Amino acid sequence: MNVWFTEYQNNDLIIGCRMSQVLHHEKTPFQDVMVVDTFLLGKMLLLDDVIQTSVGDEFVYHEMITHVGLNTLPNPRRVLVVGGGDGGAVREVLRNKSVEKVTHCEIDRGVIEAAQKFLPEITYDINDPRVELIIGDGIKHVMENKNTYDMIIIDSTDPIGPAVGLFSAEFYQSVHDALTEDGLFVAQTESPFFDRDFIKRIYKDVDSIFPMARIYLGNVPTYPGGLWTFTMGTKKHDPIKVDASKITALDTKFYSPEVHGAAFVLPPFVKALMK
Ligand code: SAM
Repeated sequence: MNVWFTEYQNNDLIIGCRMSQVLHHEKTPFQDVMVVDTFLLGKMLLLDDVIQTSVGDEFVYHEMITHVGLNTLPNPRRVLVVGGGDGGAVREVLRNKSVEKVTHCEIDRGVIEAAQKFLPEITYDINDPRVELIIGDGIKHVMENKNTYDMIIIDSTDPIGPAVGLFSAEFYQSVHDALTEDGLFVAQTESPFFDRDFIKRIYKDVDSIFPMARIYLGNVPTYPGGLWTFTMGTKKHDPIKVDASKITALDTKFYSPEVHGAAFVLPPFVKALMK
């Protein structure tokens, strides 16, 4: 069988995967939701024809968007995940022993339902008493909750459609205000190869609002360019100063106490984005 799914990243780059079947396809009020099965990476979630995650490589992204920040804080108790309808980020947060409550605010119920039905390998147990699921706009939720969360994770789609506002300076100010006094946030911030001006702007905004801004890296094979940035804004705790020997090792596949520090070692072309 030679059927391919093609993601048109831009006019000059496409990403393709040979696939065996379409498991789910629906148009929600927000986007086109599809789950396909691929030969190389197993089941894959596509939103508006853009790869969000796959069973084969999701661990990198979900471990890195959660554990780096969680292990920077001495005692993260309340965590908010904005977006992340596939459920992988919430699943990883729930593995942290000090977390008492995870609020999950996703705008599109269709993504949550598709993940619960077709991607049980990725998503979380929806009946876990520590999870509060809110179907709604993360921007509104963050604006309405001051001084509430120890950590906020922005696990959003690319900066188009309902996700545009999740990358604005105004939103980062509300995130700052929604965090407790020594809280921090982490956002996925796209490719250092293909989105340099975008990352520079985000870093500048976060650095002007938070006492400390940091960029770190992970490798996500299904995202354009593979190398991926995460940006952190933190009020007090510096992720680079975390004592690796104090990190409780989890049974993770990408994140580890050594990877925690290594993720902040940036090649010069990425460091240049912070100037
Ligand atoms: N890891 C993924 C990536 O980088 O491609 C992101 C995965 S997750 C599926 C992104 C989710 O963000 C989507 O389910 C989308 O519905 C949600 N989203 C977009 N804008 C949102 C908003 N304003 N509030 C809450 N969720 C939002």
